[in-house]
Amino acid sequence: MTSTTYTLTHDNLNALLRALVAAGKQLHAPQRVGPKVFFKPVNDAATIVFDYVQTAESPKSLLFPKAEFLVSYRQNSEGMVVTDHLQKEIPEMILFGSRPCDAAALSRFVQFFADGHADAMVTQRRRALTIISMSCIASDPACFCTSCGSSPGDTTGSDLLLTPISNGRYLVDVVTEKGQSLVAANEALFEQAPTIVKDSYLATVEAVFTPEEITKRLATSFNDPIWKNASLRCIGCGACAYVCPTCSCFTIEDEGNDRTGDRLRCWDSCAFALFTVHTTGHNPRPTQTERWRQRVMHKFSYLPETNHFLGCVGCGRCSRACPADMNLKEQIIAIAELLPAIG
Ligand code: SF4
Ligand code: SF4
Repeated sequence: MTSTTYTLTHDNLNALLRALVAAGKQLHAPQRVGPKVFFKPVNDAATIVFDYVQTAESPKSLLFPKAEFLVSYRQNSEGMVVTDHLQKEIPEMILFGSRPCDAAALSRFVQFFADGHADAMVTQRRRALTIISMSCIASDPACFCTSCGSSPGDTTGSDLLLTPISNGRYLVDVVTEKGQSLVAANEALFEQAPTIVKDSYLATVEAVFTPEEITKRLATSFNDPIWKNASLRCIGCGACAYVCPTCSCFTIEDEGNDRTGDRLRCWDSCAFALFTVHTTGHNPRPTQTERWRQRVMHKFSYLPETNHFLGCVGCGRCSRACPADMNLKEQIIAIAELLPAIG
């Protein structure tokens, strides 16, 4: 649809969020926990945090929980009762305050799970979710969205995108039909915008590499010695994958006995030594070198080749979270400098 713009005052934004909660929607928004900011369920819009560059974790768990039951069985006096958790109803949810890179990431994440054997849960949760993102008016040195196909005012993946402008007001980009319906249902809160160009209000994030160039260079790098040095500091903790909005690795766990049990799907990470261990004991990625190579190659080489998008939006969370100071932006720049240019 053609993007339409409105303005919204801060008071009216709070009124909108209160109205959504009163209408029974689950609101998830940035909340401060100690020195960090996380997306959490919110009942009172007054507790929402606005002055953050990026949340510590991504909002991915709204589409793909860290752990979820798939099926359970319980034996009772009448026999075995089997519960298919995939049939349960999904509540209507609002994600408020996601950055444009996160909305772009969720869009790629949904596309990834829609390819081939489509994952019904991820698709249904996205249908039940309305994304109201907030443009970035500040960035930090870990941000590199403009090198990964996004930007501080990118509308991709959002239903509405709010940009803070002067006098405590927001410019509202209406991006989807879902966003338009939300505005229409609360139209008294919105004002038609005169021509306002949001660019001058946005953070500046310098592009530091061209993704197509990186993808080309990585195509011949599988056996290159660069991976050894590049991975030396990585301790395989998986923090980078757990904060990432695009990482999609999971494992299936069965727990129980002959009378009661559950099958769960849980997040996993290619950084973990056990992730690729075969039942024979053989591990095709025996050291952190092969695991780090997999992480970079999957995001910057394999996904562009197979799915036509990067597996990274440059949100910078992995660099901020890494206890070993593995900075992905710096790593990509260094790798590009060491690999030969491909014509
Ligand atoms: S967070 Fe850092 S140390 Fe941990 S697995 Fe990722 S790159 Fe390695
Ligand atoms: S790889 Fe790092 S910078 Fe890229 S999307 Fe994931 S967490 Fe963000």
